[in-house]
Amino acid sequence: MASSSWTAPAARDPQARTGQVGQYGGQIVFGEVVSAEPTAPAPDDDLRFTVALAEGRSVTARRVLVATGLRDMLQQVPGLAEHRGHSVVHCPYGHGWEVRDEPIGILATSPASLHHALLFRQPTDDLVYFTHRAGPEEDDHARFAARNIRIVETAVQEVVGEEGALAGLLLVDGTFVARRVIAVAGQTQARAEGLDGLKLPMEGLPDNMGRRFASAMADTTDVPGVWVAGNATDLTAQVGAAAAAGALAGSHINAPPATADNDAALAAAQAADIPA
Ligand SMILES: Cc1cc2nc3c(=O)[nH]c(=O)nc-3n(C[C@H](O)[C@H](O)[C@H](O)COP(=O)(O)OP(=O)(O)OC[C@H]3O[C@@H](n4cnc5c(N)ncnc54)[C@H](O)[C@@H]3O)c2cc1C
Repeated sequence: MASSSWTAPAARDPQARTGQVGQYGGQIVFGEVVSAEPTAPAPDDDLRFTVALAEGRSVTARRVLVATGLRDMLQQVPGLAEHRGHSVVHCPYGHGWEVRDEPIGILATSPASLHHALLFRQPTDDLVYFTHRAGPEEDDHARFAARNIRIVETAVQEVVGEEGALAGLLLVDGTFVARRVIAVAGQTQARAEGLDGLKLPMEGLPDNMGRRFASAMADTTDVPGVWVAGNATDLTAQVGAAAAAGALAGSHINAPPATADNDAALAAAQAADIPA
């Protein structure tokens, strides 16, 4: 799998992607989906869906794979969103190498942030834990002290940048704590815009970690003919797992139409044999 850090997928040569998919008879449609819903089935009762695009066009599909990814629900701290994806990171595995040895701050959002701190302590010796929404318990003070993690309990007022880079955090008492990186374990939610018509069940994750489309084996859903793969159902999947889920769902998606085509051909053959 080709990849390039900090490059949005859409920025990676769209023509090359279109051409590669086209070689196999596929078609990429660039556009925003504003509605997707089941429509009248085909005469042989095989399922049909209509997917409408913002530009006004619509596409008919026999099956639907929802792979809309997720949306990060960032804390409402002034200045935080501007640095998202660069100096404001969430995943110790996705970003740990890039932020190694930097002065890192953990902006605590839930009890899960305590463990987040232990993970981000691995790539740096200079870690500050800002209690913000989730203070450590007595036990955690000792554990953090043992790993030289400093705790700041004064509320954070603002994330401060300097010439496009992160400079640090300003606290409500006026104290400034210099940091090059902030790690924040935010809530994540499957992107569901335009998909209401599919009536896909959603469910919350434990510890208020996020909300996903519910799925079962091979990314099937409770809605016949609709599959869901990648971050839309597995909020912690990275590129490899998301792509693998899409490939598995694809092979399962192909099975019912193959049967439907065969049933239709058989019905047509039988009808042709019946004398008028
Ligand atoms: C800053 C950052 C760094 C990361 N670094 C790594 C890394 O180093 N390694 C790694 O493996 N993973 C990394 N990840 C995670 C990785 O990006 C995801 O795991 C992966 O992209 C999930 O793939 P997906 O296909 O499920 O969703 P996405 O890649 O998010 O694709 C979903 C697509 O659906 C589109 N979409 C949503 N709704 C609609 C709609 N209504 N109409 C049309 N289009 C729609 C979205 O615009 C998006 O293009 C990183 C994530 C972030 C945020």
